[in-house]
Amino acid sequence: MLQTFQLVKQYKKHRALDGLDLTLNPGEIVGLLGPNGAGKTTALRCIAGILRPTSGQVLINGFDVVADQAKAKAGLAFVPEVPSLYELLTVDEHLRFVAMCFKTLDTYEAKRDELLTRYALMEKKDALVATLSKGMRQKLSVACAMIHNANVFLFDEPMIGIDPAGVAELKQEMLRVKESGASILVSTHLLDTAEKLCDRVIILARGRKVAEGTLEQLRLLSGSEGRSLEDVFLKLTSESNASFDLS
Ligand code: ATP
Repeated sequence: MLQTFQLVKQYKKHRALDGLDLTLNPGEIVGLLGPNGAGKTTALRCIAGILRPTSGQVLINGFDVVADQAKAKAGLAFVPEVPSLYELLTVDEHLRFVAMCFKTLDTYEAKRDELLTRYALMEKKDALVATLSKGMRQKLSVACAMIHNANVFLFDEPMIGIDPAGVAELKQEMLRVKESGASILVSTHLLDTAEKLCDRVIILARGRKVAEGTLEQLRLLSGSEGRSLEDVFLKLTSESNASFDLS
């Protein structure tokens, strides 16, 4: 379970995140949507403990990500927008290293083989990360998130650069994660994917949450009954002072 309370990130004069409250319950997929610069990556990086929030709090499985970092991060997996990988490890070494850090080496080999097969990376098992294509790097980044026993997953634009078969696998993966009772917060610009995959969505604009709820709730709120998520999104993000919360 993930909770944020009044999360603020200030970059000098610019407030990138302005008091974000969110809850991610076990077994749900929540979409984090918003125009460019809305604060999605900032929010995910604060939640992951990569950026220190200016104020506010993040709890992962009840542990504060700043004050109790090791315990909080034990249950967390983060797939960043741009994969951050060790170039001079092989694919196998990379996954093994992550499994070692999270003390899950006992189940490592079976899980590695399953993931490499699923993401068509088996033939690259002994290749250096530096030699992988862009999409392969993204798939490896996803595999790293799956190799340990996280129950809170953060994905920042995970579908970008991955081929259609990989995207289909990733969507299945997300549904398996959800079925296992874990939860996912995923930022995306792919509204049709969000519509199909997410149990509810949070829409950010200028660092603030402007709407939250299931698609049906958002349609009702925006007065766009029967319209697509794209219509709803455009309407809500164009109403600069609007703020709707149905959680
Ligand atoms: P996109 O959809 O384009 O990826 P986003 O919603 O993920 O956008 P963020 O990357 O979180 O947006 O950026 C939010 C705001 O914070 C933007 O105005 C951005 O310019 C600003 N920002 C991000 N990082 C920094 C930084 N290191 N220093 C100053 N401003 C920053």
